[in-house]
Amino acid sequence: MVWRKVELPVLPTTVIGSYPRPKWLREFIAGYREGRYKEEQMREAFDDAVIAVLNDHREAGVDIPTDGEMRRDEMVEYFAERIEGFKFYGPVRVWGNNYFRKPAVVSRLRYRGPMVVDEYLFTKKVTYSDIVKVTITGPYTIADWSFNEYYPSKEELAFEIARIINKEIKALEEAGAIYVQVDEPALTTHPEEIGWAVEAVNEAVKGVNIKVGLHVCYSDYNILKPYYDRLNVSQFALEFANRGFRDLDVLKGLNKELGFGVVDVHSRRVETPEEVAAAIRKVMEYVPPECLFINPDCGLKLLPRKIAKQKLKAMVEGTRIIRQELRKRGLERIELRKDLTCP
Ligand SMILES: [Zn+2]
Repeated sequence: MVWRKVELPVLPTTVIGSYPRPKWLREFIAGYREGRYKEEQMREAFDDAVIAVLNDHREAGVDIPTDGEMRRDEMVEYFAERIEGFKFYGPVRVWGNNYFRKPAVVSRLRYRGPMVVDEYLFTKKVTYSDIVKVTITGPYTIADWSFNEYYPSKEELAFEIARIINKEIKALEEAGAIYVQVDEPALTTHPEEIGWAVEAVNEAVKGVNIKVGLHVCYSDYNILKPYYDRLNVSQFALEFANRGFRDLDVLKGLNKELGFGVVDVHSRRVETPEEVAAAIRKVMEYVPPECLFINPDCGLKLLPRKIAKQKLKAMVEGTRIIRQELRKRGLERIELRKDLTCP
C-alpha cells in the first residue's frame, strides 16, 4: 500500500496501546476457558470489546485510537504464541489474570504469517477516526523476556525476532496501516546491550515506508539519549508524568517527534486539564509543538476503566487549552509525518 496524506489537529492526542478490558469481557474469557463458549463467540466478544474501547476513546476525544489490545493477555506472550519455535512451560493457560508465562525459544524461529493484521483490519473497519495506531512488541523486549534455549546468543535471537517483526510490519503496511508503534519497555534495562539492541529495532523497521513510533517507558532515558539519531523511527513515545515531568533535559538534542506522556498510568488520581496543559507548556521549551504528540505515559490496562477514560478526557481537554494558544500563533493543523527527523 502507499503512504497517504493525513491532516491532524496540532498536538495530536493518542494512546500508547492497552486499555482496561470491560468487566464482562474478563468474565466471558473465563467462561471461554472453561469451555462454555465456542471460539466464534469468543471472537465476537473481542470484536464487541474493541467497539466499546473505541467508543471510550471517541467520547474522550482521542485523535488516534488503538483497539485497546483487547485480544492480548500480555505483550510478549501474545507474539511468542504466534511465532513458530516458542514453547511455554508450565500449566495450561489461564486467561484473564496478570500471570506471566515466560516463553522459551526451543527451535529456529519462523514467521507463521500475520499476527496482528486482522486486529488492524477490524479496528480500521469500526473506528471513528481517520487513522488508528497499531502496536507491536519489539524484538529486544521479546528476546529479553524469553528463555533462550536455541540461539548461540541473545543478540542473535533478538535479530531473528527482528526479521520476523519486520515481516509483520510490512504485512501491516500492505494491509493499509500507516502508523505502527514498536514497544520496547526493556530497551535500556541492560545498558551494556543497548548498542546492538537499537540495531535490532532498526532491523525490525528496515524498508518500512509508514510512520513508526518507538515506546520506551520507566527507563533511564539518559541511556537512550545517545541513540536518538541512530534509531530509524520517526517518534519516541516516552513517559514523563510518573516522574513529575522531571528529566525533560533528556530531550535536549532530540530532533525527532515526541509522544509526550502526560497522565500517570500508575496512579488512580485523575489529572486536571490544567496540569496537562502546564506539562505541555513545559515540554514545548524542548520540543516544538509541530513535533509533539500527546499520550498517556504507558498502556492504561491496569487502571479501572472509568478512571482510564477520565484520564483520557483530562489529557484531551488539557491539550485543547494549548491548542487555543497555538491557534493565536497560526498553528492549527499538522500533517502526519513518517520522517526520521522533526522539524
Ligand atoms: Zn509503557
